[in-house]
Amino acid sequence: MANIDAFIHEPRVAYFSMEIALCNEMPTYAGGLGVLAGDTLRSAADLEVPLVAVTLASTSGYFRQTIDAKGRQAEQTDSWDPSKWAVPLGAIVAVTIEGRRVWVGGWLYVLKGHMNGTQPVVLLDTDLQQNDVDDRAITRQLYGGDEAYRLKQEIVLGIGGTRMLQALGFKLRQYHMNEGHSALLALELLRRYAHPPEEVRPGESAYDILRVRELCCFTTHTPVEAGHDKFSYDLVRRVLGDYIDLSTLQHLAGAEHLNMTRLALNLSEYVNGVARRHAEVSRTMFPGYRVHAVTNGVHPFTWTSEPFRRLYDARLPGWCHEAELLMRAACCITDEAIQAAHLEAKQRLIDEVKTRTGVALSMDCFTIGFARRMTAYKRPDLLFSDLQRLKSMARRHPIQIVLAGKAHPQDSAGKQLIEVLHTHMRELSDVIPMAFLPDYDMSTALTLVSGVDVWLNTPLRPMEASGTSGMKAAFNGVPHLSVLDGWWVEGCLEGITGWAIGDDDSFANGDDAEHLYQKLQETILPLFYQDQSGWTAVMKGAITQCASYFNSQRMMRRYASEAYVR
Ligand SMILES: *Cc1c(COP(=O)(O)O)cnc(C)c1O
Repeated sequence: MANIDAFIHEPRVAYFSMEIALCNEMPTYAGGLGVLAGDTLRSAADLEVPLVAVTLASTSGYFRQTIDAKGRQAEQTDSWDPSKWAVPLGAIVAVTIEGRRVWVGGWLYVLKGHMNGTQPVVLLDTDLQQNDVDDRAITRQLYGGDEAYRLKQEIVLGIGGTRMLQALGFKLRQYHMNEGHSALLALELLRRYAHPPEEVRPGESAYDILRVRELCCFTTHTPVEAGHDKFSYDLVRRVLGDYIDLSTLQHLAGAEHLNMTRLALNLSEYVNGVARRHAEVSRTMFPGYRVHAVTNGVHPFTWTSEPFRRLYDARLPGWCHEAELLMRAACCITDEAIQAAHLEAKQRLIDEVKTRTGVALSMDCFTIGFARRMTAYKRPDLLFSDLQRLKSMARRHPIQIVLAGKAHPQDSAGKQLIEVLHTHMRELSDVIPMAFLPDYDMSTALTLVSGVDVWLNTPLRPMEASGTSGMKAAFNGVPHLSVLDGWWVEGCLEGITGWAIGDDDSFANGDDAEHLYQKLQETILPLFYQDQSGWTAVMKGAITQCASYFNSQRMMRRYASEAYVR
């Protein structure tokens, strides 16, 4: 049984997230949101900020992706065994779902940072003998099932998780909702701190909303409407029952639907978006709320390839803790050392592509990388808007391309895009070597962001809240080429840290393909092939100007000083 004594002697911040990328072997994450949650915990461990994370065990994972010869994605369950990684919690709690009592147990995973810091992680699990067959499956499939399944998961996460922390004896100073999935936790706190009926004067609410707001902070993660969970009150009544009266719920979460984002906004004193641009967009989406900006960052140690770690360790000791030190990389590290480290990382990528896909890439060839969730607004096909033009560019200056990414099993447009990419791959194969690495995960991500020569991002503005893979590239001296959205609005210094596609002062996305081709043809390819020291200067710019700032140590320090201590 878990020994949590080591974690309950001091007050902690409860960090709730539907997904957390704890390590590559535990498939408890789907993409950027989970990786960010993992990096948040890794930085909290390094900086000794006392957190306790709560998530679902997701014992069937998200899914494992395979791709057939036609480019069609197939999904397999990605089961993992929590008992190999975590120990059973010494408590179980109950929540009510569809009028049944559902028992929630779980596991304690101890995240160990590379600087010896630790953070406790509670993995909630309903797969208990006491539960009905269906209820045992609630915590299995990350983002699986239908709406009702999602609501049940969110009841377990928000309500079950809050009860579990109390049952385990945690002392909590703040509750941080990482995205709206966990917002029911604020309702649980409303109920916990409600005034007893005899103290409530007629016409007043029993709920102490101000007290709950003091305890809660909320990070919103997407301007994409479908990314905000909304449940019909019919469904809510059926699944959640009379947990809280409808008029209070409608007042806090919206008259039409239970909108999880609305609920979190109304019950959190501190609210933030994940980049400056995203906070602006969120303020227009949710007028009347004060939305701060804490720009995302990535965890330095986790997202730096070995060759660059060695380099930084030797020249800039302490860089993992204080990534600001990377500002000095320009003068402390020679061009030759940067190039050698990059070639080592590139060789690793080429080896992995060869092993996994059979495609032979070349060390001398300019390599474009693009990998992310395959979904329409990310426009993975933008680079392939004009295949003839791409070919003629590549005849002058050789190009090779590596792609990866999963589409949500129910996102048919996203799956279609993967097929389209495979069609392009065949059509271009006589001129442009290309590979699609299946089953994008943290390990593939590191190999990719460090091994390519430029990292591409082409979202439809203003849909990319932040994006983080370009920050990972920066730690490895890989420049970013991206539409000005998300973090890149802040990170882009044209020709110094990378390049912009199109300009910033409009949300006109129409000419992006033209701008992308122009930038490649006129600026990037000539620089790469004809001016090695100019190219290395941009690699260094990515390290000194981007990695030094867009890291999760800075991000965690800001959450600690602005969201957690107010
Ligand atoms: C970093 C990462 C993401 C997020 O990348 P974006 O640039 O935000 O799209 C998604 N999946 C994996 C496996 C990652 O490592």
